[in-house]
Parts: sequence; C-alpha cells; structure tokens
Amino acid sequence: MTNRIGISGIAGRMGRLLAEEAASAGTLVGGIDRTGTGPVGAVLFADISALAAESDVVVDFTHASTVAGHAAALAAAGTPWVLGTTGYSAQDAEAIAQAAKVIPVIAAPNYCPGVNLLLLLAEKLGAALPAGQYDAEILEMHHRQKVDAPSGTALGLGRAVAEGRGVKLEEVMVTSRSGHTGPRGEQEIGFATLRGGQVVGSHTVMFTAGTEQIALTHHAFDRRVFATGAVRAALWLQGRQPGLYTMRDVLGF
Ligand code: NAD
Repeated sequence: MTNRIGISGIAGRMGRLLAEEAASAGTLVGGIDRTGTGPVGAVLFADISALAAESDVVVDFTHASTVAGHAAALAAAGTPWVLGTTGYSAQDAEAIAQAAKVIPVIAAPNYCPGVNLLLLLAEKLGAALPAGQYDAEILEMHHRQKVDAPSGTALGLGRAVAEGRGVKLEEVMVTSRSGHTGPRGEQEIGFATLRGGQVVGSHTVMFTAGTEQIALTHHAFDRRVFATGAVRAALWLQGRQPGLYTMRDVLGF
C-alpha cells in the first residue's frame, strides 16, 4: 500500500501545513485550490476528481460550500476522505454519510488529540452531571478570520454533552442570548463565541451548579497540531472498509 496524499485547499492556512506534513509522512501528490495557487513546488490539479484519481487519500480543508460536491466526487473515485472543513449543513452531513457507504471517511471537527480526549470527557461529564442540576455551557475563541460560528469543535463538545445526557443537541442548543431572554432553560446547552487576533483555537466546556463548577479548557497553540492529526488520520484510513470513522478510532480511546 502506498501513501499518496492529496490536499484539497492546499493554498490555505491549513493546506500549506498539511502539504508540509504529508511530504514528510508519505508522498505528497499535490493539491487543488480555488485560487489556482499552492506552496512552491506543489503539483496543482484541475479539480477534486483529478486529485482523487492520483491520490490514495484526500485530506480536505476548504469551505463548507465544497462538502456535498467533494463527497460525490470522492465516492465516485473510490478515494478515502479525511474531511477537516467545518460549518457545513445537515444536508451536507447527509452527503458525507452517503459517501461513507462507498469509501472510508473521517469528518472530525478537530484533529487535535487533546480535543478528542476532551470530547470523550465532555460526554462522560454530561452523563454524570444531570441537566437541571448542572448547567452545561461551552465557550470558544478563534482568530478574526474564522467564518463559521460556533466552531465545529464547540458544536462537537455540545453534541458530546447531549449524547451523554441522551438528548439531541439540536433540541437543546442555544447559540445566542441577547435582550430579554427570560431565565435559562433547564435542558439548555449554551454556546458563547469570541473572535479576535490570531487565536488558533480555545474551548472550554463548563458545568455549573448552585454550589460548584467544573470547567475543562483546551488551548491549541499552533495549527500544525491539526495538520499532524489529519495526516495521521489519512495514514490510518488507508485500507479500511467503507464507513464513517472518528478520531477516537484513530487515537484508540
Ligand atoms: P483558509 O481560508 O486559510 O483556507 C481554505 C482554502 O480552501 C483557501 O486556500 C481557499 O482558496 C480554498 N478553497 C475554498 N473553496 C475551494 C474550492 N471550492 N475548491 C478548492 N479550494 C477551495 O482556511 P483554513 O484556516 O485553512 O481552514 C479551512 C477549513 O478547515 C475551515 O472550514 C476551518 O474551519 C477548518 N479547520 C478545521 C480544523 C479541524 O481540525 N477539523 C482545524 C482548522 C481549520
């Protein structure tokens, strides 16, 4: 088995790091980017299908608008897919699930090992600390260029807490509070979003009761942590059966 890794979004902040990590971990095939540019020396392909045809796995960090199209193209090509793009719709999530019937897919909101451990802990805390006694709130901060909110990781943390509590996140999430909101709903999982500077990614999940509070915080200091995680996922994904895998599968916890 070879490790030909193709990068979608190769000119982006993540794409450039992914290209470096792929080059050192395996064989960097090249990539695609809407801008038609990429790191010096990288081979650029015309579109996702051309990239998929030459790659053993495609690592994709672009924009939510690409997700459904890339799902169809990669499924048609039979090329495994490591999707890092966030901010996509429920319809796009369905397109990912359809692709995963044909190819192995990982669509993680965050490829950082520490965050994936935090997701596991959030689920356990959600199960142990019941709504009504412990109010679950999630706070995130990212750099000023980020285009979607709350972050995919914040939503992932909310989903983990909701799963721990046996409820659907969509039925309990509150993403903004402004004006006369009335008191907090017992089941609510609240999200607060901060944007500024060049913060790579900070997330806190907190459970607050009348007499105590537990808060777990993760800070990413360098976005390379996402790139090394995604390339690790790409190497792990090769040779797998079709299906939707998680970073927990890759990391083994
Ligand atoms: P960026 O804007 O720096 O890079 C995105 C790149 O994708 C750009 O070069 C852009 O030209 C390219 N692009 C956009 N549409 C395209 C298309 N249709 N075809 C080909 N290329 C296209 O953004 P970024 O900071 O690199 O983040 C990219 C995505 O990855 C975002 O959704 C972000 O939230 C997500 N992200 C995920 C993780 C994770 O661990 N899952 C970590 C960091 C960022």
